Amino acid sequence: MEHKSRYASVTVLIVDDEPSILEILEQFFGERGYRVVTAGTAEAALALVARERIDVALIDLKLPDRTGLDLLEPLARANPHVKCIMMTAFASIESTIDALRLNAFDYVLKPFDLLRVGEMVEAAAQQSRHQRESDGVLDQLSMANRKLEESARTLGEKLSSINDELSRTNESLNRHVTRLRVLYQMGRDISSNENWGDALDRFLMALCKYLEAEGAGLFLFSNNAQSLKVRTSYQLDEALVQRALRALSQAQGSDTLPSEMFTLETCGGPRVKTCLEMTVRWQDTVIPLLYKGRWLGFLLVRKAYRSRRSYLADYHFINTIQTILTEEVANASTISHLRNLKDFNETVLENINSGVLTADRDGKVMFRNGRARELMGERGKEAILFDELFANPFGGGGLFGRIASQDEGNSSFECMLLRPGAGPIPVRVNTTTVRLDDHHGTTVIVIFEDLTRQKRMEDELRRADRLRSLGELSAGVAHEIRNPLTGIATTAQVLKERLGTDAEKGKFVDVILGEIARLDAIIKNLLDFARPVPPHASEIVLSRLIEDALALLTDKAGGRGVNLHFENQLRDDRLLLDGDQIKQVILNIALNGIEACGAGGRVNVYARDAVNPAFVQIELSDTGSGIPDDIGDKLYNPFFTTKTEGTGMGLSISRKIAEGHGGRVYYKSAPGKGASFFIELPRKMLVSAERPAARATE
Ligand code: ADP
Repeated sequence: MEHKSRYASVTVLIVDDEPSILEILEQFFGERGYRVVTAGTAEAALALVARERIDVALIDLKLPDRTGLDLLEPLARANPHVKCIMMTAFASIESTIDALRLNAFDYVLKPFDLLRVGEMVEAAAQQSRHQRESDGVLDQLSMANRKLEESARTLGEKLSSINDELSRTNESLNRHVTRLRVLYQMGRDISSNENWGDALDRFLMALCKYLEAEGAGLFLFSNNAQSLKVRTSYQLDEALVQRALRALSQAQGSDTLPSEMFTLETCGGPRVKTCLEMTVRWQDTVIPLLYKGRWLGFLLVRKAYRSRRSYLADYHFINTIQTILTEEVANASTISHLRNLKDFNETVLENINSGVLTADRDGKVMFRNGRARELMGERGKEAILFDELFANPFGGGGLFGRIASQDEGNSSFECMLLRPGAGPIPVRVNTTTVRLDDHHGTTVIVIFEDLTRQKRMEDELRRADRLRSLGELSAGVAHEIRNPLTGIATTAQVLKERLGTDAEKGKFVDVILGEIARLDAIIKNLLDFARPVPPHASEIVLSRLIEDALALLTDKAGGRGVNLHFENQLRDDRLLLDGDQIKQVILNIALNGIEACGAGGRVNVYARDAVNPAFVQIELSDTGSGIPDDIGDKLYNPFFTTKTEGTGMGLSISRKIAEGHGGRVYYKSAPGKGASFFIELPRKMLVSAERPAARATE
């Protein structure tokens, strides 16, 4: 039973021309559960092989129509797993070898032991089964292999398409990155370039090229974010630029500007749709530039997007551009604001009418403004030291050390500013010591002002004051002297009368009288100076007045061999001023000129318009000795004279008269080459109510 079930699926073919053998074997194997088919001839066996699956074949070597060996090959072809056992009554070595060469499983000698044949068939059946099974496994394996190959191929294809896709993506990413890098660089240009207009133009141009856009425009808010202006545009027609400007300004007015990109087509409505919400085709994308909550402006890109998909392809690129441009525009406007502020500060500092300089902790001058440079005069290239600039008014030690030691303090003092190749000038210096930053450390800021004019005015005031007291004193003394002098003069005249014809003695009295007259003249001058008579304006003709004055000097000039010459260059020489006083001035100055000249000298007088049309100028130039520099300051002092017979009152009185008219007297002289005095007078003297009206008491 056990056999039967084990061999039920095994078909055994028995080929033998001996019917009894066929029968025995059929029965034997049939009983053992094999399925048995039999054939008496090779032909019959081949017919069976064609339609049956044979697992084990028992073939007689000697068949009537062929040899059993002839069946081996066709059997193996039809049943790859068949195991053939050859049966022979007379086995020869050759036939055995042939059988085995032809892949026979085994052979059995007739007459045979049935059990032995049974074992053989069982072994063959087992081997055939194993072979079939292993072939099945192999088949499965090869099938699996095929499948594997198939999947590997599909996978390969997929991989290569993914690879292609990847390299395409990579390429486009690279392109994007390169473009972004270029735009980023260009963006950097915007904020680092002084002329950022050009950088912006380049940026827009590159942007359009990379985005394949038709054109682009940039709109920026003015500094106080009040109004939107067109900053620049590239390949956009003017009408579009203006339409965009209107729409964006309106949207800003109605507070409907989104911070996301939106389209110009939807701008200005009650609510502006952003690009991501768009469902239809659009053309003009507006990219807002919003920096830390502050509106900077908008970038307008003209490019037609037919679908959301095509727009999304550019979305990240545009987004990055938005970031770059926002940063750079913010930087550029901050920088330009700072630059303006710096320029403003520098201009103020440069043009301020005080000298400003800073010195480092070693007293080295680091900065000086325009006025400081002007006051300090030309300096070499080497470093300037504070202590070489300002003389220490406190005496002892360096001035800078004293200032710098006052930590963060101020000081103010007057001192002299030392200038190479020129005299020192008085200045008022204000210093502040500050600690700026780690880089600059302690810095001394110095502001100084030229006091030359102020000092001169102070001197003038002091001089006027001195003169006033001197004048008052002199007037008092003169007044007192005049009374006894009058007494002396009267007595001398009486004495002269009494002496009668005694000419000898009379001569002495004449000397007394002459000296008295001289004293009287001095006193008169003194009184004129101390208590000047206020000018009384009347219409005079200046040329005539000058001619009259010069006529009085003709004899004197002639006596010294000096030539007098007058030239009137005035078109209108009718003036309103005190003729007597002005004649006095001309006389005094012309007389000085004559006295300064030797024989053959010359005094030229010119009357002309002054630079100020309300004034006239009278020039009196002589070819005399000139005025030495060292007496220049004292010239107008009363009683200053270099002449033995001089009173020293001529110029002081002349200046007083000119000033009393609102004019002035000054001179120019090159020693040895003569002197030129200039009298400048108003055409119409100013009559001041404040002027003392009373004449001086004599
Ligand atoms: P005085 O003529 O009596 O000396 P002034 O006041 O007129 O008094 O002149 C003062 C001084 O100025 C003169 O002594 C002289 O030294 C100088 N001075 C005035 N005018 C001239 C001149 N044209 N050339 C040279 N020195 C002059």
